[in-house]
Amino acid sequence: MRPTEGAAAALILRDVEVAGRGGLDVRIEGGRVAAIGPRLAGRGAELDGRGGALIPGLIDHHIHILATAARADSVALETARGLADVAARIGAAAARRPAGAWIRAVGYHEGAEPLLDAMALDRMAPRHPLRVQHRSGSLWILNSRALGAVLRGEPAPACVERGDDGRPTGRIWRGDAWLGERLGRTPPPLAPLGARLAAYGVTGLTDTSANTDAEAAAILAAAHANGDLPQRLMLMSGGDLEPPPGVRLGPVKVLLDEARLPDLDALVARIAEARDWGRGVAMHCATATELAFALAAFEAAGARPGDRIEHGSVIAPEAVPQIARLGLTVVTQPGFVAERGDRYLAEVPVGDHDNLYRLASLKRAGVRLAASSDAPYGEPDPWTAMRAAVSRRTASGAAVGEGETLAPAAALSLYLGGFARPGGRRRRVAVGARADLCLLSVPRAEALRMLDTELVAATLVDGRVVFERAAGRAVAA
Ligand SMILES: [Zn+2]
Repeated sequence: MRPTEGAAAALILRDVEVAGRGGLDVRIEGGRVAAIGPRLAGRGAELDGRGGALIPGLIDHHIHILATAARADSVALETARGLADVAARIGAAAARRPAGAWIRAVGYHEGAEPLLDAMALDRMAPRHPLRVQHRSGSLWILNSRALGAVLRGEPAPACVERGDDGRPTGRIWRGDAWLGERLGRTPPPLAPLGARLAAYGVTGLTDTSANTDAEAAAILAAAHANGDLPQRLMLMSGGDLEPPPGVRLGPVKVLLDEARLPDLDALVARIAEARDWGRGVAMHCATATELAFALAAFEAAGARPGDRIEHGSVIAPEAVPQIARLGLTVVTQPGFVAERGDRYLAEVPVGDHDNLYRLASLKRAGVRLAASSDAPYGEPDPWTAMRAAVSRRTASGAAVGEGETLAPAAALSLYLGGFARPGGRRRRVAVGARADLCLLSVPRAEALRMLDTELVAATLVDGRVVFERAAGRAVAA
């Protein structure tokens, strides 16, 4: 369903539950909720809600869109068992693509076998240019077609490994910058990701990539405009950015790395620069040290509403009131407890276990709290993350910070804040509100008991249906 120029046609949602009241109709006009009431009159398209709850569309407040789409379009080798399995996975990807189309594989590890080279890859994909990234991130291996495409017969830099015969082996060590330049930017297909997120009821995305530049922003804006990525977009960036039409500009993203922390004065100056650009600041804080450093910088520079702590993976008890006093929003990933919790419990010092991915203690302290996937590093389904926020259980069933458990309604609310104030006032289904909506197949009370993505019956962005689950529910013309 591709958006056409101008506002969407009028649509009436029949028999939905709004804010706990059942049996209502909702009329949508010009991309907004125009009327809510029983048995509304109106002509045009209708969608039967069958008594399900109509809630605001969910916003994933921290995602890396292009990386998630690229991952989905790549051959995953993380779990490959030996060379034969690697070859089978690459062969399957080749069979799905026309000859000559690029294949990208990631997560390769040689184990006890010899490291792949161009000749080995040629046997796996003789008709496609193929590049395989080593799990370490420091090595790409290219087959002959791919090598030919990047070398183009020109002198190669030192990152291109050569064999005893002087010919390239296909291995490129720490050559990401050069390789990126030679390959150019080929954006991954975004429509599959847009459709997948729409099926989760996601109507808005905050892309938090620090490396977003004008070109990446233009790619995302174009995908939104043509309907491939129907979700409304807010983009962060590390530097100054002129937002393309149709997308909003978010805070400046600052990546802190505990091993290479900048000078505190330099960080304070970056905050000041963001203010000059009229933007908030979002600091990546995955460790207690990174958080302490970020808080020191916000203390020195002054914090503003809209400033954010990303992840808040480890928050010491004394940092909680400080975050509240500074008025910072914490944008966390409840799903990591389920996805990575067992590893955290094994690797994080026991004394920090109760400080992992806090939820309830932050809310109690008055901190604005919002949730996200951090895809591709986390699973993009918000409903599994909500269940993790309620259960606080790892995959093996171990508890992580049981005191941090949220009630189901609070878990859902983590996705209902606005772009500018994630974790702030919840968006509501009300007359005049934007028709970015999620229709569930059951009333809200039942949905909260289940918190399951299968409950999403339809998703609307700007009044347009961008996802509809049941085939029998086609929008009447
Ligand atoms: Zn991230």
